[in-house]
Amino acid sequence: MTKTSIEYADENITVYPAPCPLKCKYCWSNQPIWIYRTRHADPVMDAMRLAKSHFDKIIVVSFTTDPYQPRESTEHLAREVLGILAKGENQSHRVMVLSKSCLMEGDFPFFKLWHDHGFDIWVGTTLTSVIQIPDEPLTSNPHRIVMLQRAHNLGLPTWASIEPWIPDKTFPRQIIEATHEFVDWYVIGRLNYVKRLRYPEVPKGYYKEETIKTVVLLRSLGYEISQKPRKKGFWLKKELVTNP
Ligand code: SF4
Repeated sequence: MTKTSIEYADENITVYPAPCPLKCKYCWSNQPIWIYRTRHADPVMDAMRLAKSHFDKIIVVSFTTDPYQPRESTEHLAREVLGILAKGENQSHRVMVLSKSCLMEGDFPFFKLWHDHGFDIWVGTTLTSVIQIPDEPLTSNPHRIVMLQRAHNLGLPTWASIEPWIPDKTFPRQIIEATHEFVDWYVIGRLNYVKRLRYPEVPKGYYKEETIKTVVLLRSLGYEISQKPRKKGFWLKKELVTNP
């Protein structure tokens, strides 16, 4: 378990160690540093500790690697971790599931059951477009959008992480227009390590100009800035605001 430097969460539980087999082009999970940091991941122990903690936390499962990667279909470790949190002594944590995999949808009946018993679980995914992009060869934005809609239809709170924002591929306003009826909270970031990842250079001022238009759209739809996940809220990550 790691305390996170991400602005909107307190804790991250890594379910499966790096590298992540979903092979997104922009991902760092296959870098030696992540493989090193996650090599002794003990998600069950982490969940048990947090389940007993009396300090209310916002916990993400998971920033580091996808918790619903293919091995979840036989190991069910993500489900086990979430089940421990759902049945823990502290029912005041907020647990933000983050996955690009359609396997997550198979656990919606559990999420629904836990949610109906008071567990504050949010269904989240990353959206980089409304269409599939080659940078994500093994997952699909359209499928993820449908998954969020289905979670919302079940009464589960939903969130979307619009990042990385890849110029010429990611159009946040298009994503928001296509999803705002069933996404409760958005977080928006930029593309980092552009050179190292061999993406084309981002024109100066691009993010600033586009972010302003995106905020205007969000406000017109009734969304308010909120660092903590909430209904009709959005957050702009520091990297986007300080490095426009
Ligand atoms: S799903 Fe997430 S962790 Fe896995 S390769 Fe893609 S960005 Fe990396």
